[in-house]
Amino acid sequence: MNEDVSSEASAIDEALLAGLRNSRHVLCVSHVAPDGDALGSLTGMGHIMHRLGATTTLALQDETPAELKFLPGAADIVGPKQITDAYDLIICLDASSVDRMGHIYRSEAHAHIPLFVIDHHITNTRFGHINWVAPDCAATCQMLVYLVDSLGLPLDETLATCLLTGLVTDTLCFRTSNTNARVMEAAMRLMSAGANLSDITARALNRRSFNLFKLWGLVLPTVQLDEGVIWVHVRRAQTKAAGMTTGDVQLSSMLITANEADISAVFLEKVAENGGPAVECSFRARPGFNVGEVAFELGGGGHPPASGCTIQGTIEEVAPRVVELLKQARRKGLAAS
Ligand code: 5GP
Ligand code: MN
Repeated sequence: MNEDVSSEASAIDEALLAGLRNSRHVLCVSHVAPDGDALGSLTGMGHIMHRLGATTTLALQDETPAELKFLPGAADIVGPKQITDAYDLIICLDASSVDRMGHIYRSEAHAHIPLFVIDHHITNTRFGHINWVAPDCAATCQMLVYLVDSLGLPLDETLATCLLTGLVTDTLCFRTSNTNARVMEAAMRLMSAGANLSDITARALNRRSFNLFKLWGLVLPTVQLDEGVIWVHVRRAQTKAAGMTTGDVQLSSMLITANEADISAVFLEKVAENGGPAVECSFRARPGFNVGEVAFELGGGGHPPASGCTIQGTIEEVAPRVVELLKQARRKGLAAS
């Protein structure tokens, strides 16, 4: 039943295009704890489907982070309570496995509805009826630039703003190792269509809450480094003391800039849905090292240089085991270099 579509960004499957063109009531969804690519591809897809004449519901399990609320269409996003089963298509964006949609996707109520997956994670589990997975793209938003071309639609300022936001945030403003000429070409086209790069960068990347700095001040004194792996624990008491409620603590990308480190990890203490302890792990790696494989083995996913997973258990149980796996991944990278 599952159909795998070419990962060549320029060769988009006809069945996918026809499915988009022929659907009238569409549910678009992205991943829990949404980032810029999740929000950009979700709102961008909303605009695309609107242009195709469909009625579209945009849904996310979790709140839109404050720094991404400027995106055109973000105010229309609904949560799990507003979801029905009256759709003729579900489009899942930037999510590598079915669980990443959280409670928006209901496996029983939605089983009869075609599910299209559009994603750029190499760890994607191909859980849709049609899966367009393009790991050669730096962001799901980059894929949507090619989709717009294939659908014969114009890029306008609104759509370009959504798509450039995902491209800018997933590449950390064109600094990641997968930022190639195709990425710059897509970005240039989005800018030519009216997207404002400096405004997007200023809003989506260069703004942080004061409380986040308080949290960094609390956790950074305990940062650890061993065998080229740098990591930090973030306790619930610390997030609470800093006044943080939701959101990314944005430390893994900073820790990987340490001269001595090839791999970084952040272990964030959480409460699981069953009420037990859980740890949300965020990993980064320098080029030549692969943390995507580690996260995938632990039930999560991502890319070779940036990945994550959530593991049941306390930080004391989880972190030492995961640090060992990260050291192994580093040795593997060193051996291959
Ligand atoms: P971040 O560390 O910025 O939260 O996530 C880095 C990358 O790993 C992103 O591409 C994100 O989609 C992926 N990722 C993070 N956490 C998870 C997870 O729990 N499951 C899966 N499948 N991917 C994750
Ligand atoms: Mn992405």
